[in-house]
Amino acid sequence: MNKPESVVQNFYSGGIPQMKPILETIDLRKTYRVGTVDVEALRGVDVRIRAGELVAIMGPSGCGKSTLMHLLGAMAKPTAGSVLIDGQDIATLNDFGRTQIRRKKIGFVFQKFNLLPTLTAGANIEVARRIHGAALGGVHEQHLSELLKMLMIEEKMGRKPSELSGGEQQRVAIARAVVNRPSILLADEPTGALDSKNSEIVLNMFRELNRKFKQTIILVTHNPELTSYTDRLIEMRDGRIIHDSDPVVRNTDPELQTIARDL
Ligand code: ADP
Repeated sequence: MNKPESVVQNFYSGGIPQMKPILETIDLRKTYRVGTVDVEALRGVDVRIRAGELVAIMGPSGCGKSTLMHLLGAMAKPTAGSVLIDGQDIATLNDFGRTQIRRKKIGFVFQKFNLLPTLTAGANIEVARRIHGAALGGVHEQHLSELLKMLMIEEKMGRKPSELSGGEQQRVAIARAVVNRPSILLADEPTGALDSKNSEIVLNMFRELNRKFKQTIILVTHNPELTSYTDRLIEMRDGRIIHDSDPVVRNTDPELQTIARDL
């Protein structure tokens, strides 16, 4: 086994993710103009996420986590620098192109669940399947039933969000986010509205999704407890990454760095 593989294998308990990045930013910058003042939310972020990784991005409020998440999810354009989703630079796309890539490749989970209140849990998931144009039947039916079993919400499909606990609502939101098998699942403070017991359940489900379906997951949080559920921790301050536990990033061996750059 060559060197980078053994470094990575020793680090990732759940198996080696692929080395090729599914998501990459290069000197990513975002500036908001507020009146006459420029707010530099991101000041040069370089990050590479490989398929199959389970990553936490952590930092205090205002450090740029949500801005980074918006850009990683192709919801906005950078001021400068690049975001490559599966090799495609979102800065080169117009609104329609970004919407297409978002629909095909990205699933989102939010702090406040964002389920449609008048629809049942099952209908909320079904709407996502239809909007994103997934073929009905066959593989998708089987995938959905495996998902609902894993998330322990099979019995809840006939209920409306108001008839579910917060933890159950978030699990429905997770099912909705991954039902079309997105390449990347982005979750912004996914346990922010949950008590500790439900947070633990939901975080264990993210791990299962990652392990069982090799789902690439990026969780954003300001809660350090959440990071014990992930394999890799990226810490931000003032619009920059100040620490990345990725073994390839951390390892200063020039040979490894050269090989990793070419992967
Ligand atoms: P976090 O998610 O870590 O709390 P944000 O990405 O929301 O950080 O914010 C980073 C910085 O950018 C903050 O100073 C925030 O006030 C500013 N900011 C975020 N969104 C906007 C916006 N739409 N307009 C102006 N300033 C913004």
